[in-house]
Amino acid sequence: MAGVVSKVAVIGSGISGAVCASILAKNGISVTVFESARGPGGRMSHRRETSEDGRELSFDHGAPYFTVNSKNLEVQSIINEWESRGLIAEWKETFGSFDFSTKKFVNVDEEGSNKRYVGVPGMNSICRALCHEPGVESRFGLGIGRVNWLEDIDMWSLTSLDGHDAGHFRGVVTSDKNTFSSRFTNVTGKPPPIDLNSISDMALQIKEVPTIPCFALMLAFEQPLSSIPIKGISFKNSEVLSWAYCDSSKPGRLTSRLVYVCELWVLHSTAEYAQHIISQAGFQKPSSALLTKVAEELFEEFQSTGLDISQPYFKKAHRWGGAFPAASIAGEEKCFWIAQKRLAICGDFCVSPNVEGAIGSGMEAAAKVIKGMRLTPL
Ligand SMILES: Cc1cc2nc3c(=O)[nH]c(=O)nc-3n(C[C@H](O)[C@H](O)[C@H](O)COP(=O)(O)OP(=O)(O)OC[C@H]3O[C@@H](n4cnc5c(N)ncnc54)[C@H](O)[C@@H]3O)c2cc1C
Repeated sequence: MAGVVSKVAVIGSGISGAVCASILAKNGISVTVFESARGPGGRMSHRRETSEDGRELSFDHGAPYFTVNSKNLEVQSIINEWESRGLIAEWKETFGSFDFSTKKFVNVDEEGSNKRYVGVPGMNSICRALCHEPGVESRFGLGIGRVNWLEDIDMWSLTSLDGHDAGHFRGVVTSDKNTFSSRFTNVTGKPPPIDLNSISDMALQIKEVPTIPCFALMLAFEQPLSSIPIKGISFKNSEVLSWAYCDSSKPGRLTSRLVYVCELWVLHSTAEYAQHIISQAGFQKPSSALLTKVAEELFEEFQSTGLDISQPYFKKAHRWGGAFPAASIAGEEKCFWIAQKRLAICGDFCVSPNVEGAIGSGMEAAAKVIKGMRLTPL
């Protein structure tokens, strides 16, 4: 790390924010990451659960894996570095499709030619490591509720969701579109932390991005599901299920501590199914009764494949209200940059609705901030 010169706040510890923070720190800019959740990762989260009989389980209940287009050399270089540090590994299992109309597996081994990468031992491992690099201070469980530009001192002032002063910063990177969109208001009833209209005439360009929801179902089985010949399944002709993954088949998962766990699976609902449930129940936090109903319905659909699927000893659903952005809005720029106020906006919604897009956006936001800081030294 070069000599530390100035402070930037990064809002969000998902992969775009974590990548951005780590690059800033490596370039001598001290960073504070603010994350409203208890831990890092955002939609690359890893969740610990305990079964009724006390077994410790853990699931990647967000992104199950990611790929990188081999022509995307910038992102590939950062991936290679993570692989050599042991933060990620290739998931080499066989993938394929299952067609509900014929009740048959199809296209086995033909699902994509790019390498599938996973974080080790969980998808959040990458963000966790990046958020703890030298020069990065991370504050988890601290959501930002207000971001104000102070013209007289040429700085940003941040306030936490519960109204406490979170500090002054020369630059801000926000990596979640909810920090400036009406979805924040739908969920919290409060105005979004950043009022783009008061900050920049670019506000009109930075559109509201609709999101696509998804329910994830975490399952633990006593015995391996030996009737299923593959470890990643995309479903065709189902209105309810889109994917199923054998989580415990990923590299670095079943440690000796988890030896009694046997086999873990994560199922993903279709967007249509999730939209239907949310249109009835609303945006607020789902009740446990609703999550139980969703868990039953997703599992019933899994069993209706006709494959031999035993009852799991653990079954729990999670709602992702905004699993994927429905549009990418930054084009070739890959992020938004408001130079006069050193504000960067990044995330998957800027480039493409996946981990690769989020990494590329976070890298570009860091490049903009580094250049901006050099142009306006203290
Ligand atoms: C079910 C599911 C399946 C997926 N499958 C795949 C896949 O197969 N392959 C793939 O490449 N991608 C997949 N994705 C998408 C991938 O996870 C995302 O594209 C990527 O993780 C987005 O990263 P991000 O940094 O842009 O946003 P996020 O991960 O959403 O990070 C934003 C962070 O900001 C935090 N935050 C928000 N507001 C505040 C605030 N006011 N104060 C403090 N913190 C705040 C949030 O808590 C969050 O941690 C999947 C996602 C889901 C949910």
